[in-house]
Amino acid sequence: MNFADSEVVNSILIEDGMQLAENPETADVVLVNTCSIRENAETKVWNRLKELRKIKKSNKELTVGVLGCMAERIKDRILEQEHLVDIVVGPDAYRDIPRLLEEVDDGRKAVNVLLSLEETYADITPVRTVGNGVSAFVSIMRGCDNMCSFCVVPFTRGRERSRPMESILREIRQLSEEGIKEITLLGQNVNSYKDGENSFAKLMLACSQVNPEIRFRFSSPHPKDFPIELLHIIAEQPNLCNYIHIPAQAGSDSMLERMRRPYTREQYLELIDQMRAIIPGVSFSTDIIAGFCHETEEEHQQTLSLMKEVGYDLAYMFAYSERERTLAHRKFEDDVPEEVKKRRLSEIITQQMNIQGERNKSEIGERHLVLVEGTSKKSEEQMSGRTDTNKICVFDRRDFEPGDYVEVEITDCTSATLLAKPIKKSSISEFFGVAVEA
Ligand code: SAH
Ligand code: SF4
Repeated sequence: MNFADSEVVNSILIEDGMQLAENPETADVVLVNTCSIRENAETKVWNRLKELRKIKKSNKELTVGVLGCMAERIKDRILEQEHLVDIVVGPDAYRDIPRLLEEVDDGRKAVNVLLSLEETYADITPVRTVGNGVSAFVSIMRGCDNMCSFCVVPFTRGRERSRPMESILREIRQLSEEGIKEITLLGQNVNSYKDGENSFAKLMLACSQVNPEIRFRFSSPHPKDFPIELLHIIAEQPNLCNYIHIPAQAGSDSMLERMRRPYTREQYLELIDQMRAIIPGVSFSTDIIAGFCHETEEEHQQTLSLMKEVGYDLAYMFAYSERERTLAHRKFEDDVPEEVKKRRLSEIITQQMNIQGERNKSEIGERHLVLVEGTSKKSEEQMSGRTDTNKICVFDRRDFEPGDYVEVEITDCTSATLLAKPIKKSSISEFFGVAVEA
């Protein structure tokens, strides 16, 4: 999401007459876009600011800004502790950056951390500079109203609001013209997307019809209100990927209740069954938190067993990190000792790696359609891309280019990567059949 936000900020600054610099050493302004989701995300930012302090020593004119969730959360601390920082801008105030930069030119510190009920940056066309030229993120909504007890997002990014569907489709048409082949729609809870009569399912259908050779993913839906209609649309539309990120967080009803996740283990598993029944071959990823407040060994075991029962193809796994202002911070004690959190997290990761390894092995001999992203990290002679089911897949380079769809046969694997033999260049319509028209 920050990646997408930085692209909006690029656009605002370029519109104001600025240009992208090659590196911080040659820049007049450096803006650090920040995340507050866990303590270690913030630690990274403090370290980055230390590096910038060195650059500022040799370039006294350099303006340094802190953008995003940390700006919202701890603006005073940033300005007091970091004399280096000149401007602080929250996630809803990016349009104000040109004015704030002018204030800095007058020798003042400049701050705008106002949250908005309306801002979606709908009319701003993001300037994509760091992507791979093949995939792009498109933000469809901002903020979150869910108030999961562990999560700081509702406090740093404000109330939930949806971007008008027409502006999303306009951006997608433009990306299509630019040759982008894979688009991920982003929001904190995409299920509750709403623009008048248009629901998230309608939006996905409309996106899929812009160009049958662009494939679409989305992140993140909430298990509490997943629109079943969307599963049928995914099953019917070849360019909506057979992959769903569906964050579980934990595997026991008691823990889900403490987390304020309004679904039970049973309801979650029923949803997974329904997804598998409607979309054969669908793959799943999830988010899991280890060591949340008062977590017992039994609750931890239930998280492990849920993960085993679902058999995720990918998981993002975190140790609980207490955040100020959240319900958990006010109501519960962060009482699971650090070493217990670490041990539980490592058990969760180890089990997940084994499950992924097994699941990947079962792919050997299968055919997949891979969208080539670039050369593999390990060898220039190999290309790397993702299957429709979002697995990284590596195969011989031949004459393939980034942006090509290639039909491959899986020959081997590790727990993180599928290795394959390329069969031929292909397309979504050739590999999966013809897309349904509007
Ligand atoms: N809106 C998305 C999640 C966004 S945050 C959703 O609800 O699915 C991404 C992930 O970070 C969350 O799913 C959760 O697993 C993790 N996370 C959020 N707050 C956290 C905290 N305080 N400590 C550890 N992990 C956290
Ligand atoms: Fe945080 Fe819950 Fe909102 Fe996701 S749905 S951003 S976890 S409050």
